[in-house]
Parts: sequence; structure tokens; C-alpha cells
Amino acid sequence: MKLPYIKPYKTKMVENITTSTKTDREKWIKEAYYNMFNLRSDQVIIDLLTDSGTGAMSDNQWAEMMKGDESYAGSTSFLKLRQTIRDLLGFHSFLPTHQGRAAENILFSALLKEGDIVPGNSHFDTTKGHIEMRKANAVDCTIDEAFDTESTHPFKGNLDLNKLENVYKKYPKEKIPITIITITCNSSGGQPVSMQNIKDVSKLSKKYGITLFYDAARFAENAYFIKEREDNYKDKTIKEIVKEMFTYVDGCTMSSKKDAIVNMGGFVAFRDRPLYEKVANFDIIYEGFVTYGGMAGRDMAALAQGLDEATEYGYLQSRVKQIEYLGETSQSYGIPIQTPIGGHAIFVDAKRFYPHIPQSEFPAQLLAVELYKEAGVRGVEIGTLLADRNPITRENRYPKLELMRLAVPRRVYNNNQMKYVAVALKNVFDRRNEMKKGLKIIWEADIMRHFTVKLDKIN
Ligand SMILES: *Cc1c(COP(=O)(O)O)cnc(C)c1O
Repeated sequence: MKLPYIKPYKTKMVENITTSTKTDREKWIKEAYYNMFNLRSDQVIIDLLTDSGTGAMSDNQWAEMMKGDESYAGSTSFLKLRQTIRDLLGFHSFLPTHQGRAAENILFSALLKEGDIVPGNSHFDTTKGHIEMRKANAVDCTIDEAFDTESTHPFKGNLDLNKLENVYKKYPKEKIPITIITITCNSSGGQPVSMQNIKDVSKLSKKYGITLFYDAARFAENAYFIKEREDNYKDKTIKEIVKEMFTYVDGCTMSSKKDAIVNMGGFVAFRDRPLYEKVANFDIIYEGFVTYGGMAGRDMAALAQGLDEATEYGYLQSRVKQIEYLGETSQSYGIPIQTPIGGHAIFVDAKRFYPHIPQSEFPAQLLAVELYKEAGVRGVEIGTLLADRNPITRENRYPKLELMRLAVPRRVYNNNQMKYVAVALKNVFDRRNEMKKGLKIIWEADIMRHFTVKLDKIN
């Protein structure tokens, strides 16, 4: 019999979970105005709000924390991280930042001006925020298959080359300071981009003289999917695939809270020294001196170790297989989810889950609320609440996909807990027709409303 895959680590320390009853949770979620971000973590049993900064560090990462060098300038922890980035990604220069959006902030401060165009594959919300804040425009060039949750395209994060070339033809080069490929594509469901697509986008961008960067938050998971799904790569190691992936771009922004398995941190890495110099000024103003940029020495040391661990096949296999297990168990109960199953989360299709509830009543948020009440599982809405209002007309924007995301922290939960989540989803699904109405907004902020919104049930 073929041996199954194995989690290549075991537990040395545990963190207890506070349990609760359905009655407790019904009271708490009402007090939280039906907003998941208002819940206290000890009111949650399985926390799948995000995989960002929630991973479990290894013994070797903790050992690196102890070895951290807290020197203001020229810290050896910085040098260690620089060497890891050089060896792994092939970029000679990098700037540390306190997290991913800070990396976006310093890069875009140097590159973007009003009226600029930034093409990409469904930019992440903070990326879009940083672009739009500068009165520039993020243009989504993702392939159409990404918006069909039933399509089984293996690389739904891919860019549509025609859409991209149309943008390159429509605007002068000076208006397009950068194109961004997000790997994996978070906004389309943790979907990977193929090496072939990366190569094609790189070639096209070179032809038009456009700078190309990755938003690399989940670069290792993307490399895993390339190995699994793209024929020429099945015999290569993850580190070889990563090395090749980064040869096709000019740099990257990174949220280390994702695939570097640390709780806080980020960076921008560059091939080109002049661009590094320009961005370095903004790192110094916003983050700190260029050898720490918002990070403690110990955090840079743990980050270097995390990058190395996250690009090992055994770890990535057990990570992605765990998401697959959650997804396939849910599917076996009839739950409609985005396919193929992505790298860091499953996305439940609320339009198919509650077809009788209109988008104006936030069906994905309703689903998140019902799942929390059922079992203390915290997911997050990726739908109409998150899409917010059109800044000019103030009308609700109705996105094509109305999803409830269950993001799985790295190395934290086991498959018994994933089974618990899937059964909870089943119970909510079985009583879906009892839900006649959704939710309404009773208070909201001017921007990024989903974090602080107050909701109530519609009677
Ligand atoms: C999380 C994330 C960011 C922002 O990073 P933070 O560390 O949360 O600031 C940017 N892009 C992608 C794809 C992300 O997933």
C-alpha cells in the first residue's frame, strides 16, 4: 500500500482553545454587531479569519529569535536575511518593512503618480488601496475563468495576455510605472499563476518596456502548484522553481506574515540598484533605517529561517493537502466551493449556498455569522461588504463573486479540526432554507468599511 503524505513536524507546545455554547455565541455575535472583526479571539473555537501572521513558528525559528542582533545599523540578522533573499530569490538588494502594505507604501511612493495605470491579476485590497489613494488606477487583467467558481482551470490566477497588451497599447509607457503579478492570486481565491504565464507576461512587459513585480506573499504555495500542475516542473525542487520564477521579474513586495511563516514583517526586493536607491529614501522616512525598516533584528532572523522552511516540499505538500482535505470533505456534504481548491483557504460560494438571498443583503456575511453561531468557526466575507461603495456615486459595488473565505493558518490546526469545520458547514447548509433574510448595515465607515461595519438582522 502506498504510504500517505505526512506532516513533517510534530507538536512541542500547545495553546488551549476556549470552548463555548451556541447560546454564548448567539449573544456574542449580536453584541459584535454581526461583524467577525469585533469578536474576541477567546470567543472563537477555530479561527480561520486569516492565514496572515497566524502561523506557528518552528523550533529553529524560535532559536533564530534568540540569536537576533538588535544593532541599529548593519545587524548580522539583516545580513543573514539579505543572504537568504539573494540565494532563494536571486535579488541582490532588499529593504525590510514592518509588513506587506508597508512594502507597497514605500515602493509606490517612489513610483506612482496621479493618473497612472497599474495592471495586474486582481490586486489585493491593500495594494489597490495604495494605488487608488495616489489617484492611480488598478486594472484587472485576470483571465475570465477566475470569475467562474465552477471552472476547473488549473491556473486561475493567470493574466489574460490580450487584456494586458490592450492596456500596454492604450496608454503611453510613462503612464504604466509597474505591472504586478500576485502569486498566488489572493483575491481570486488563492489561485496560482503558471510559469508559462509568468514567462509570457514577462516577455510582453519587456517588449513594452514596463517594470514587472510580484506581490509575492504566497510565492512558495504558487511554486508548489507549478510543480504539481505544470508538466516540465514535476522533477524540480521547490527552491529551483522559486529561483526560476523570480528570474522573470524586476522585483517583489512581500508580506512575510504569509509564506515566510512569521507573525509580522515584510520587504521589497530589487534587481535594479537605482530603483532600490529611490525606494530606500521612503523606507527611511516611513519604516526605519535600511538595515531594519520596521523590524526587530530577531524578527529578521526568524524570517530568514521561515523563508527556507516554507520552500521545502514536505511542508508545502502537507499545507496544501490540508486545505484540499477541508475542501473535499465540505464538497462531499454538497457545499458549493470555489474550484480548484486554492493554496491557503477554501472559498464558499454564497450565491450558490443562499441563492434566495440577494447580494444587497450580504449572503456571504450571513453565512459567516451562521457558521460562527453553529460551531465557533470564524471565517470572513469576501463579497459585497468588502467591495465597499463606489467612491463617487456611493452606491454599493456588487462583485462577481460573493464568497465566504476560510483561511487556514500555517502549521496550527490538524485534520480533526478541519473535519469539525466541514461538519459545521454541513449543518448550516442543511438549514439554509430556514434563512429567509440577510443582514443590513446600521453604521459604516467611509472607507474599508468591512473592518468596523455594524450590522443587524433584517426582520
Ligand atoms: C496580506 C497581503 C498583502 C498585505 O500584507 P500585510 O502584511 O497584511 O500588510 C499584500 N498582498 C497580498 C497578496 C496579501 O495576501
